Amino acid sequence: MKLSTRWLAALGTSAVLAVGTTPVATATPSGTPATSADEIRAAITQSYSSADRVGIERPVAGSAVDRALNPDDYECGPTDFSAYIDDLIGGLSLDELIFLVNHIEMLDIPTYDALFFGTNTDHRYDLRADSKQSLSRTFTDVKRFWDIDSSDIQLMAMHGSMLQDASRVARVLQLPLPEFGKSKAVAEAEAAEIAKMASKGFFDGGNNPLFTLNAFAFTAEGDPDPAVAGLPDKLIFGDGILDALQALGIADVGARAVMGHEFGHHVQFEDGLFNSPLTGAEATRRTELMADAFGTYFVTHARGLALNAKRVLQAELTSFEVGDCQFADPGHHGTPLQRLRSATWAANLAAAARPQGFILPSLRFADLFEQKLPEIVAPDA
Ligand SMILES: [Zn+2]
Repeated sequence: MKLSTRWLAALGTSAVLAVGTTPVATATPSGTPATSADEIRAAITQSYSSADRVGIERPVAGSAVDRALNPDDYECGPTDFSAYIDDLIGGLSLDELIFLVNHIEMLDIPTYDALFFGTNTDHRYDLRADSKQSLSRTFTDVKRFWDIDSSDIQLMAMHGSMLQDASRVARVLQLPLPEFGKSKAVAEAEAAEIAKMASKGFFDGGNNPLFTLNAFAFTAEGDPDPAVAGLPDKLIFGDGILDALQALGIADVGARAVMGHEFGHHVQFEDGLFNSPLTGAEATRRTELMADAFGTYFVTHARGLALNAKRVLQAELTSFEVGDCQFADPGHHGTPLQRLRSATWAANLAAAARPQGFILPSLRFADLFEQKLPEIVAPDA
């Protein structure tokens, strides 16, 4: 099954998913506890580096794990966000770390559960109480703001606590995706083990933010893959990303900015803006920087959320630092400075709206963005 970034566009916290095809157990045989944390780290790293790459953006945790383990591979210095993730990983017990190595696909289970099985009428995918009101209202506002047909987009949450539910975990493990695709018997056995450990309190019962450290926009439209046919458009918020924004002190503005960015991807889906002559990392960078611009325009515009531009840009800079320095990676989102340039441009455009309160049609906005793009991506120096 081939997935494309067209298919799934995630928050700028993500790098491309490297799916392990080799069971990690070959590196750390089950039942043979690794002798040191270093061995375990090596095993996690191997599961990423030896993997097939499929073109979906992965939840941030996998790349974050990798980054935490191999800081030399990354050109970005440590950021508040990477420090937060290091703390999450550092907070795991050795037993939890070993278990995670042997079930590395756990990092993606809540994501695919919400993606394939979640609906906005199923309370198990309700937004968490501390964000429900703010995000629901922002969702209503952003749908009204942009001139696309957004009536069919479902807003929902993903909760890591689903890892305690063996039947839900087994259902995901059987999905026809490269990292899953397990037989019913194998999936059920593994799911029982995961659910047992999560229920016993491993990973805070699944609520460790590592498992849901993402928000993303999804559409199946235009995707020939039968596995996703019929799935509705979605905008999914992980509890983990909300926790992270909270820890970074930008929960209020940050979550709404993330919503603006993800909805920007839905504007791109509907307007057919994913196509360009660019390929690979440059293509992804273009669509991500454009989503930053769509999002910032909405949250700062007088008829959008009318948030203070300076506060927004500060919060965005913090979340842009979410460790995307893999310049050659097809999941590359742009450097923090490029993202800040794009957002600043959009905030200025919103402030300059004439007549006052005029909202640019989304296609016109995209045209203006394309004209600006070469300047936005010019070398930092
Ligand atoms: Zn994005």
